[in-house]
Amino acid sequence: MTDPAALAATDCPKQMVHGPCGGVHADGSCELGDRRCSFVDGPVVPRQPLTPAPVVGEAPSSDGAELRTLLAAGRVVVADFPAAALSTESVAATAAVLRGRVHAVLAGDSPRSRVQFPPAFRAGLIQAAGLRVWAGLNCRDRNRVALEGEVAALAAVGVAAVHCVTGDHTATGSRPDAAPVFDLDSTQLAELCAAAGLLTSVGESPATPPTEHRPARLVEKLTTGAEVCFVNHCGGAAEVGRFVGAVRTLGVDPRFVPCVPIVLDHASAALLASFPSLVLPAGYLDRVLAAADPWAVGIAAAVELAESYLAIDGVAGVNLSGGGAPGEEVSFAGALAEISTRLAGETVAPMSVKGFQAVRSQTR
Ligand code: SF4
Repeated sequence: MTDPAALAATDCPKQMVHGPCGGVHADGSCELGDRRCSFVDGPVVPRQPLTPAPVVGEAPSSDGAELRTLLAAGRVVVADFPAAALSTESVAATAAVLRGRVHAVLAGDSPRSRVQFPPAFRAGLIQAAGLRVWAGLNCRDRNRVALEGEVAALAAVGVAAVHCVTGDHTATGSRPDAAPVFDLDSTQLAELCAAAGLLTSVGESPATPPTEHRPARLVEKLTTGAEVCFVNHCGGAAEVGRFVGAVRTLGVDPRFVPCVPIVLDHASAALLASFPSLVLPAGYLDRVLAAADPWAVGIAAAVELAESYLAIDGVAGVNLSGGGAPGEEVSFAGALAEISTRLAGETVAPMSVKGFQAVRSQTR
């Protein structure tokens, strides 16, 4: 009998084995918009181990123990790292604002640019600036051999954790001329990272079709050895709570880290809107964008939403998710730092955009 998963994979433009990805549109169409998703009408695909088995390099110089301890204690704050791509200066200035203010930074590729520093190089820069790195890694531009080398490099530089995603198709970003590689998908990448001894996370999108299969799909991903699930934007606390409960009912209990949308102005709202299958709490955008001071209201709204997530049984932390306008990376990082500090229960004097510009000039 023909394997339905193998058939679906041949039609998927990202050649996913363990589809569907998080880019499926609400009507079941593919993220490319030119076909129905190959997986959306099928059953959950059982995990198929990699062949040949993962190549494992040296033992990682960080075993993730410190971060595991923090996650076990709860109320971990992981902030996106909003530095401009290909700028060591921007990395240093952004890190200077976030250092000591968040538990870790999620350093994935900038959503505005497909051409990036290699993840291990970027992680080394950020760590040298004094931050714990949760490295983002995707399958878009690297074949399996390149990914195996990158995983070994991330282990060698001592990142605290690696977040594994399949990645958006090249046709949807700033470099549609690039060949879409997708030699592996996120589940297979998680297998590589876990086999390398790295603390490994995966994402899941509860509001993305087929919603009824998303909990079981996560269970399959977790069989790789991944320990943490970033819960992509799916509404509010009720939706996150339902998803966490549904996964636990299936007998697994990873550390859940829901994503909190950071909206401070029209530019950050537009960036979030580019995330696949984004679902925000009702009225969230309007509340911020219609405010006389959207920056202050956006920070307050993020703190409020994060607190509602942190109150859910099983949630170990939150991810402050988003980015600012080009040139406003340091200001945006300042907002992330302020949100994190408020979540820690500390009083902070809100810093104006001008204040962050002063910080930026001091770090140059
Ligand atoms: S939505 Fe994602 S998984 Fe489905 S066919 Fe398109 S790329 Fe493949």
